[in-house]
Amino acid sequence: MEFYNTYNNYLKQIFGGKVYKISLNAGFSCPNRDGTLSKKGCIYCNELSFSPSKKLGENLETQIKIGIERLNKRYKNIKYFLGYLQPNTNTYADVDTLYKIYTKILNHPKISGLIIGTRPDCIDKEKISMINELAQKYYISLELGLQSMHNKSLIWMNRGHLIDAFENAMKLVENTNIEIGVHVILGLPTETEEEMLENAKYINKFKKIKIVKIHNLHVVKNTPLEILYKQENVKILSLEEYAPLVVKFIGYLDKDKVIARIMGDSPKEYLIAPYWVLEKQKALKYIEETFKKLGIAQGSLL
Ligand code: SF4
Repeated sequence: MEFYNTYNNYLKQIFGGKVYKISLNAGFSCPNRDGTLSKKGCIYCNELSFSPSKKLGENLETQIKIGIERLNKRYKNIKYFLGYLQPNTNTYADVDTLYKIYTKILNHPKISGLIIGTRPDCIDKEKISMINELAQKYYISLELGLQSMHNKSLIWMNRGHLIDAFENAMKLVENTNIEIGVHVILGLPTETEEEMLENAKYINKFKKIKIVKIHNLHVVKNTPLEILYKQENVKILSLEEYAPLVVKFIGYLDKDKVIARIMGDSPKEYLIAPYWVLEKQKALKYIEETFKKLGIAQGSLL
């Protein structure tokens, strides 16, 4: 039994077969790193941990080729690949540059669509109108970093924007064909459990949000969070603490949302804590058991 709508099934319905993502680095920067907003970045962010095996500077074509070869070695008969602009802020350039990069990926014969990860304060009318044009022809998903609805948490994370930036972004995409995804973090030390669960109800308010990616706060090397963690100034949730939390969170999410991720992920060489995220299958099994134990499924607590 599935306790929530999975992204794999959702994409299978759209494309008619299993879909694989290829993480791509188009060399964008981020205003929260280049000094425009800050030089420190978000408290948890180490840009290298997104795709450590990728050599910066490899062109997109080479990255796609390597990504396809790697996936074809692991899985058989793959028909569909999506480009995933994951690291940094992938709308942080002028609209012509963005168009060139997006169409370069979308015009690749093996690529069936594009996922664009970005900050809510880095889109505007012109960019959205260009992305929407592409969305008439291709599968395009825009992933916005919501992380939390609570300003105190956004400040603690050094996001460099407050919740009004997210709400402005939602207004910009409201009447478009662009699929919208959001990232949210559970286990922030600034929030009570009730406040964490409020994030699910907040997401429900936006019918336009289709995809939800849930991360547990985890500590990556060479980040401000690593320093805080080592000074014992931040508590990181154990799997036993996280599982009932994420299960309840999903219990409060509308049934029409699709859940693309229910825990964080980090390459072993970058992870400081918690180690349980490295045993992904075991953790997912434990979370599944928790769904059963608590008798919760997506939307059942609403
Ligand atoms: S998490 Fe995203 S917005 Fe924050 S510093 Fe890293 S790339 Fe920039």
